[in-house]
Amino acid sequence: MFRLGVVDSPAQGHEAYRGRLAIPYLTPAGPVALNFRCIRQHDCKAVNCRKYLKPEGEEGHLYNVAALKADSDFLVVTEGEIDTISWTMAGVPAVGLSGVKAWKPHFRLALDDFPIIYSAADADDAGKGLTSLLVREVGARPIRYERGMDGNDTWLSGGAGALRGLISG
Ligand SMILES: [Zn+2]
Repeated sequence: MFRLGVVDSPAQGHEAYRGRLAIPYLTPAGPVALNFRCIRQHDCKAVNCRKYLKPEGEEGHLYNVAALKADSDFLVVTEGEIDTISWTMAGVPAVGLSGVKAWKPHFRLALDDFPIIYSAADADDAGKGLTSLLVREVGARPIRYERGMDGNDTWLSGGAGALRGLISG
C-alpha cells in the first residue's frame, strides 16, 4: 500500500541513499517526494548518522494524502511516515508531517473536512512544537503516547487496540 522499498541500485544523485528504506509520498498523480530512512542495526544518534535523509527541496508535503478521502469524523496527524503507517494499520485515517517545517498554510484547507483533528506527535521538543502548531492552525486535540513511546512503539507493543485506545477517551 505504501510502496516502501530499499534502495539497491540508486538513481543518479541518490547514491547517498543506498541501503536506506525509500518512503515515497504517494498522491493520485504519483509520488511527489521521497524520504530515506536508515535501517542499519545501530543507534543512529550514537554514530552520528542521520536517520532520515531527503533530497533538497522536498520539504512541505503531507504524507499519505489518500487518508484525506476517508469517510471519518476525525483524522490523526502524526509526526512522520512510520507513525502514519502504524495508525493506518490500526484502521485510523492518518497523515504525517515530518516536523513543523513541513507545514504549509494550505494544509489547513486539506484538513478542513474533518470535524476533529488529533495531533499525535512525540513528547520531545520537536513534537511539542508540532502539536502547538496544529492546535493553533486547526484546533487539534493532542494525543499523548505513553512515556518514551511513539506511534510505532505503541503499535508494536499493544497493536491496533493500543493506538485506537488513545483516541477513544
Ligand atoms: Zn543510521
